[in-house]
Amino acid sequence: MEIRLEGKVSLVTGSTRGIGRAIAEKLASAGSNVIITGRDQNKAQEVAKEIKDKFSVETLGLSMDVGSPESVKNAFEEINKTFGGVDILVNNAGITRDKLFMRMSLEDWEEVIRTNLTGAFLVTLQAIKKMVKQRWGRIINISSVVGFIGNAGQTNYASTKAGLIGFTKSLAKELAPRNVLVNAVAPGFIETDMTAVLSEDIKKKYKEQIPLGRFGSPEEVANVVLFLCSDLASYITGETIHVNGGMF
Ligand code: NDP
Repeated sequence: MEIRLEGKVSLVTGSTRGIGRAIAEKLASAGSNVIITGRDQNKAQEVAKEIKDKFSVETLGLSMDVGSPESVKNAFEEINKTFGGVDILVNNAGITRDKLFMRMSLEDWEEVIRTNLTGAFLVTLQAIKKMVKQRWGRIINISSVVGFIGNAGQTNYASTKAGLIGFTKSLAKELAPRNVLVNAVAPGFIETDMTAVLSEDIKKKYKEQIPLGRFGSPEEVANVVLFLCSDLASYITGETIHVNGGMF
C-alpha cells in the first residue's frame, strides 16, 4: 500500500533544515500540505516555497519560536486563517547547550527545557484543537537515543528527550478516545548541523558504538515519521520507535 496524505495539513516545528526539513519533504511527497517553521521567517518562507515547487502541495512558511507562548499564538493565528488548523503535528524543534553538569548554568538548563520540552507543550496545546474535534490526528515527538542511555555533557538535553517520552505516553492515553495517536521517534546519531560540530575524533568514537557503523540520514528518520502518520500505523499509540543503527 502506498502512503498518501492528500488533504492533510502537517505542521513540522524546526523544519528549516536537518531532520525537520526531511520530515516536511517526506510528508509533502505523500501529498500533505505542510507548514514550515523555525525562528528565521525568511528561511521558513524560502523552504516553504522550495517544497511547494518540488511537490505541488500548499505550503506556509512561518516564524515560530516554540519556546515563546506569544510567538506560538501568533503563528497559529496565521495557520488557522490559512488552513483551519492542523491534522498532523511533528514536534521536532530542538537545541543542545552541552556542558558538563558541574559547569552547567541555570540558563543552559532552562533554555534547553524551554525549547525542547515546553515547546512541545505549547505547540501541542494549539494543534490538538482541530484533531480532537474531527476525531483524527497524529502527533509525533522527536526524542533521542540519549534520553534512554544518557550522555556525558547532556544532562539538560537528555532530560528533555526522556521527558518527551513521558509526555508521549500520557498524552496518548488522554487522546486515544478521540482517535488522536501520539508516538515518539528516537533517532541515534544523524548527519545534520547539530552533529556537524562534533570533532572527527568524537564522531569516530560514536561510530564504533553503532552496529551499522555509520550515522543515519535525516531521510531515514523521516521514513519512520511518515509510517506513523499513515493508516498503516492506525493501532499504534504511546509507542517509541528507535532509529539508531542498532546502538540501543
Ligand atoms: P538542527 O540543528 O539541524 O535543526 C534544528 C531546527 O530547529 C532548525 O530548523 C531550527 O531553525 C529549529 N529551531 C531551533 N530552535 C527553535 C525554536 N526555539 N523554535 C523553533 N524552531 C527552532 O537539528 P536536527 O535536525 O539535528 O535535530 C532535529 C531534532 O532531532 C531535534 O529535536 C534534535 O534534538 C533531534 N535529534 C537529533 C539528532 C541528531 O543526531 N542530529 C539525534 C537525535 C535527536 P532556527 O534555528 O531557524 O530556529
